[in-house]
Amino acid sequence: MVTETIDPDGSGTDDPDVMPLALDGEHEEVGTIWRRRSGLRAIVAIHSTALGPSLGGTRFRAYATLDEALRDVLRLSKAMSYKAAVAGLDFGGGKAVIVGDPDVAKTDGLLVDYARFVDTFQGRYLTAEDVGTTQADMDLIGEHTRFVTGRSASLGGSGDPSPITAYGVVRAMEAAAQALWGSASLEGRHVAVNGVGKVGGSLAVLCAERGARITVADVSGAAVAHVRSETAVEVVDPDVVHRVVCDIYAPCALGGALNDRTVPELACAAICGAANNQLATPAIEAALRARGITYVPDYVANAGGIINIAYEFAGHDPSAPRAHVGRIFDTVMRLFEEASRSGETLSVVADQMAEARIAAAKSRRADI
Ligand code: NAD
Repeated sequence: MVTETIDPDGSGTDDPDVMPLALDGEHEEVGTIWRRRSGLRAIVAIHSTALGPSLGGTRFRAYATLDEALRDVLRLSKAMSYKAAVAGLDFGGGKAVIVGDPDVAKTDGLLVDYARFVDTFQGRYLTAEDVGTTQADMDLIGEHTRFVTGRSASLGGSGDPSPITAYGVVRAMEAAAQALWGSASLEGRHVAVNGVGKVGGSLAVLCAERGARITVADVSGAAVAHVRSETAVEVVDPDVVHRVVCDIYAPCALGGALNDRTVPELACAAICGAANNQLATPAIEAALRARGITYVPDYVANAGGIINIAYEFAGHDPSAPRAHVGRIFDTVMRLFEEASRSGETLSVVADQMAEARIAAAKSRRADI
């Protein structure tokens, strides 16, 4: 087994591909592993444990190069720190990537090797499901390490996070409605949901229950049929859903929905959705602002999932995570208040909030 740990002092590796990126002065720890027997090639990045153990999912993806995988895991683990910090969790940010096509490379043996790798971090990194991994994978990993979240409810895990993630997005929408239109009610508002999979489908139903008019789009006919069986929706083509004249546009499919092509065509007042990395580039936020469109930062609106799994370590009171997710409303209201004071965008304010909380925790800790 080859493992290596890279710390900010540079004592962990002399691999020229890894070093310059890992030694960005921001990440606490990066561990890599390669196991010939199972073909496991994975990287765990711990951005920060200042607030608590680092938490973040395992992405299983056919990266073209290890360098690309490392860039992704460093970026994603930092984003997890910010997400946990703004969500008011006492957890830090971490992430893992397994390099390979999950449809081809994923075997029980590989997942067992991966679980043992996660175990070597002794709780400084807690893993979870992400793109390319499933709850069943977490169940298997959980047989070999206790540092895993998001297992099946029957095994003591918190189960599918999608419904509670959708609830958090609705709370963020309600806060946006309060700030923009003076009432948190979504009644009579028009919400366009792009991608009605696990989160978007639940979100459409929750918004409809609150009296909103719903338009949906999805490349999957089955996903559209499913949401149609649950509530009344109008359906449009995915290519034009961003052009729907509406109050709130909710990207709930893949990342990058807000880009140079779509932003000039948007006809909404606000954007608030579940998808991660909605802005194709950071510059897109300025374009939204120039168009007078309010963007609720994705990582604030979609924090329900991480809040839910964080509560796996805090006993079994099922109402506790829901109450915490409900407070996304208060967080978004704080962002609006601070943004109107400072003149910054909601994203800038959210990042500042995260950085301040992490810095304050760090200053109380001598060990990191
Ligand atoms: P999902 O796979 O269940 O749903 C995604 C849906 O988007 C699918 O129905 C798919 O057919 C559709 N889709 C794909 N490409 C599309 C396109 N070009 N146009 C329109 N529709 C398209 O995934 P999910 O769990 O609902 O997650 C949705 C997003 O929310 C992802 O970006 C995910 O990272 C993010 N997210 C999910 C959770 C969670 O709890 N599941 C938590 C936080 C963030």
